[in-house]
Amino acid sequence: MLEDLRKALKTGDDLAWQDDANCRGANADLFFPERGASTRTAKAICRECQVRAECLEFAIVTGEKFGIWGGMSERERRRVRRDRQVAAARRAS
Ligand code: SF4
Repeated sequence: MLEDLRKALKTGDDLAWQDDANCRGANADLFFPERGASTRTAKAICRECQVRAECLEFAIVTGEKFGIWGGMSERERRRVRRDRQVAAARRAS
């Protein structure tokens, strides 16, 4: 999984948080399941992860389209991005 995080690097962000990732050594297929497959095990691993917030923020900011990051699916992350855009638009108006 850590290798996938590094491959997904799209910014010059500090990725030191990855060293504490709970998914280190885990099967990457758990975090990038086939369509319709369970995400329960990956999300359980994320729930116990001390860098969950950093991981989720990285995926949201970089627009990561696939997999479970920070305990959320792409669909869940899309909702977070949309909510943030709505909140930013309200603040601007
Ligand atoms: S939150 Fe999940 S995907 Fe992110 S580093 Fe932790 S265990 Fe890995």
